[in-house]
Amino acid sequence: MHELSVMASLLETVEEHAHKADAKKVLSINLIVGERTSFVDDSLLFYFDTLTPGRLSEGAKLNIQRTPMRFHCNTCDTDYQPEVGHFRCPVCNQPGQITSDGSEFLIESMEIET
Ligand SMILES: [Zn+2]
Repeated sequence: MHELSVMASLLETVEEHAHKADAKKVLSINLIVGERTSFVDDSLLFYFDTLTPGRLSEGAKLNIQRTPMRFHCNTCDTDYQPEVGHFRCPVCNQPGQITSDGSEFLIESMEIET
């Protein structure tokens, strides 16, 4: 997936919510972007600036929060962040279960002015 198409569909969602809420302006958008996605902050910000002029989200602040890949070990009840290529629990060395795969791309929240 390309940043441009992802950003375009994200803005559709943002604009739709803003219109429904009778917003005059979108002040900020908080994004959660998984560490494992290939999206680069600079590209996301660049496309955001390219796509927003004339829209409610023009001039809004785009906050990007990165989330790592997370695992949970059912044997010893530990949450951990796996090393590259090593997914076993660092405490008891049992295979863990994936709880977040680091590939999310979602809008956590947005702030609007009405
Ligand atoms: Zn464990």
